[in-house]
Amino acid sequence: MMPPVGSGRRRRSRAALGLAAVGLAAVGLVLAIDATIWDRPVPRLLFGVLDESGHVATAALLLSAWATTSTRGLSRTFVVTALSSAILIDLDHIPNELFGTTILMRDTYRPYGHTMLTVAVAAACALVLRGARGNRMARAVAVGVLLHLLRDMATGGVPLLWPLERWTVAYPYPIYVALLTAAAMTLAAGGPRAVNPAMPKVGIGRVTRGTISHVR
Ligand SMILES: [Zn+2]
Repeated sequence: MMPPVGSGRRRRSRAALGLAAVGLAAVGLVLAIDATIWDRPVPRLLFGVLDESGHVATAALLLSAWATTSTRGLSRTFVVTALSSAILIDLDHIPNELFGTTILMRDTYRPYGHTMLTVAVAAACALVLRGARGNRMARAVAVGVLLHLLRDMATGGVPLLWPLERWTVAYPYPIYVALLTAAAMTLAAGGPRAVNPAMPKVGIGRVTRGTISHVR
């Protein structure tokens, strides 16, 4: 039986509103976290949990927007690896946080892992592992670290060019918020096509045969 005329459009509108709400909720979460942890003293453990939550929200939102616009989609392995990398890069804070040593951050605001060198090493691994499964994972690590740096550069900065330079590279926080908002809007704009009944039943964020589906 044919669906009623206009039902597909209504479904797409609802999907767009839903995705816009999810995207904007992620932006709101990041704003709330940053208003909490940067403007007042916060216990370090709570700070860490909230800041990592901000990193997850940032990376997930940008990866979702990317998946929406990508013609090939993003594999589950790629997404999981990128999200993990966007968190695990902060392990280089441990020597300073737990042992009080600045061995990994002498004269820099954040540790040496927070640099383009880390991204370059991951990218080099991807080149070496060309054609192998490890290639995809290495590319995901590079993307995950980049997404992490994107947030850190808006919240104090990173020694992006270390070891060449020890400068702290940063950019204005409102630009970060605008970027996240644009990603939320991209998600909403691309999402409705995912529920177009004329297309295969795949949707954004839904894992199908190991692949986070994409929308053309
Ligand atoms: Zn960091």
